[in-house]
Amino acid sequence: MRKEEKMFDSVIIGAGVAGSVAARELAESGRSVLVLEQRDHIGGNCYDEPDEHGILIHKYGPHIFHTKEKKAYDYLSRFTDWYAFGHEVVANVYGKLIPVPFNLNTLHMVYEKEKADTLEKKLIETFGMGSRVPILKLREQEDPEIRQIADYVYENIFLHYTMKQWGQTPEEIDPAVTGRVPVVISYDNRYFQEPWQGMPLHGYTPMFEKMLDHPKIRVETGVDARSRIRFEEDQVILDGEPFCGEVIYTGPVDELFNCCFGRLPYRSLRFDFEYLDQKDYQGHSVVNYTVSEDFTRITEFKYLTGQKAPGTTIVREYPFAYTGAEGEIPYYSIANEANQALYEKYRALTEKIPNVWLLGRLAEYKYYNIDAMVMKALELTEKIKQEV
Ligand code: FAD
Ligand code: UDP
Repeated sequence: MRKEEKMFDSVIIGAGVAGSVAARELAESGRSVLVLEQRDHIGGNCYDEPDEHGILIHKYGPHIFHTKEKKAYDYLSRFTDWYAFGHEVVANVYGKLIPVPFNLNTLHMVYEKEKADTLEKKLIETFGMGSRVPILKLREQEDPEIRQIADYVYENIFLHYTMKQWGQTPEEIDPAVTGRVPVVISYDNRYFQEPWQGMPLHGYTPMFEKMLDHPKIRVETGVDARSRIRFEEDQVILDGEPFCGEVIYTGPVDELFNCCFGRLPYRSLRFDFEYLDQKDYQGHSVVNYTVSEDFTRITEFKYLTGQKAPGTTIVREYPFAYTGAEGEIPYYSIANEANQALYEKYRALTEKIPNVWLLGRLAEYKYYNIDAMVMKALELTEKIKQEV
């Protein structure tokens, strides 16, 4: 083993949001931090880069920062300025583009005026202006007219998209998932209603580069941590030597233990990028295909990043069940009782090792957004700093 590695106080596995924020926080508390990242770049799934035509793309799917947590916004603002905008999404329903989440504007696009006016009045009376009603809750309503709207939204926005994304119906998946895109009783067409939303002005990758640029942080990319770290009973062995500093792991927890209880299920995605030698493809940043096609959505990056260019790049997302095969990436944990029980078995193995912490969308097997990840990383590092 190289001598210098013994000098690290903390090791962080994964350089996504979770790992990068944690690394910065521990470094600023005076610790020397080693970050091991298996990909050849930092940023995790938020990574962006110019494609061969110079269009800034998000390699692992479109990422829009949005939060109501000022603390998360302020934290990232230390490392980036913002291109702020209110993100809007439309659904392609049999060729007609309608705003999603379904809202009062959408209502007026799908029903003729008199009917839409009556339904609008009823929705406002029942739920209140500004309320957000998950589709599964809307479907529980007994009023026949509200049921009619619920059925429309269910059939035309949720059912087919959810079948593609999860391989299951909206009833079969965790209600919190469809609850992310509720019916909104207002004229707000934005996909997210939180006060801070947009893109890091120069992209995510420069933001993470800045975050990890600290004299006490060393980042090694192209390194699978499992080639450097193993566990022996309640001890961490780093490069063959016992390591007593903090180890924060942000990868899939089953893989730490060779999937000894079986693989944790995830949904994965195939991203098909296409460059088009034309100024505009779809006139919107994201179009969800909610009643047709095998892909779930098409993103046109220029509309997300504000980039001006003569050509344009789009990406189609094709979901499939993650198998763990070489090259596949686990993107979405699948929340249900059986999977949570399996996750807990793996977590229990890490609990025996007092200096190992699980952090992140994969390691915690949770559907976290970027802002929630920032908050969790700040919370965990605060706890670690207070303990020692
Ligand atoms: P990751 O970004 O997955 O980082 C984990 C890192 O650990 C990876 O780089 C991985 O290579 C590395 N790693 C794993 N195992 C090892 C190992 N053994 N050795 C070394 N390194 C290892 N959130 C939003 O807020 N807005 C959005 O618009 C949004 N869009 C999304 C779209 C898609 C398609 C997906 C999948 C997610 C989206 N998210 C979005 C969620 C966002 O990606 C996550 O909140 C965030 O990336 C989680 O960060 P993380 O650090 O936990 O995980
Ligand atoms: N969803 C849907 N139709 C849509 C948008 C969302 O059915 O047009 C459902 C689908 O089940 C999806 C979930 O709502 O997985 C959450 O959507 P979100 O856009 O938050 O998913 P993400 O961007 O995280 O993939």
